[in-house]
Amino acid sequence: KIENATLKAELGNASWKLLHTMMAKFPDKPTDEDSAALKSYIHLFARLYPCGDCARHFQKILQKFPPQVATRSTAAAWACHVHNEVNKRLKKPIFDCSNIGDFYDCGCAEDPVEGKE
Ligand code: FAD
Repeated sequence: KIENATLKAELGNASWKLLHTMMAKFPDKPTDEDSAALKSYIHLFARLYPCGDCARHFQKILQKFPPQVATRSTAAAWACHVHNEVNKRLKKPIFDCSNIGDFYDCGCAEDPVEGKE
C-alpha cells in the first residue's frame, strides 16, 4: 500500500492536539497513581501509534527523554520538548515551549468540585 501523506499528517496533528491538551489538564499536584497512569499512557501511545515508522522513532525519543510526570508543568514541557524532537527530524519549525501553558485548552468547563455546584 502506498503512503498517503495527507492522512499521515492529519493523524499526527490530531494526536499531538490530544497529547498536549491532556498535559494541559493534568493535575498540578498529581497523586502517584495519576503520574503512573500518565507515564503508562505515554509508553502505550508510543507503542500503539498507528504509523509504525513514527512509533519506532518516537520510542527511541522516549528512551532518550523519559516522560516527566511529576506535575502539570513538567509534563507539558516534556511533551513540548519531544514534539520538537519530531519537528527537528521532519525539518519543521521549532515551537517556543515557554508559551505552552496558554496554548492548549480543552474547551471544557471546570470539573465540579465536591460539595460545590
Ligand atoms: P504538527 O507537528 O502536527 O503540530 C500541530 C500543531 O501543534 C502545530 O501547528 C503547532 O501549532 C503546534 N506545535 C508544533 N510544535 C509543537 C510543540 N513542540 N509543542 C506543542 N505544540 C506544538 N510524521 C512523519 O512524517 N514521520 C514521523 O516519523 C512522524 N512521527 C510522529 C510521531 C508522533 C508520536 C506523532 C504524534 C506524529 C508523528 N508524525 C510523523 C506526524 C508529524 O509530527 C506531524 O503531526 C505532521 O507532519 C503534521 O504536521 P503539522 O505541520 O500539521 O504540525
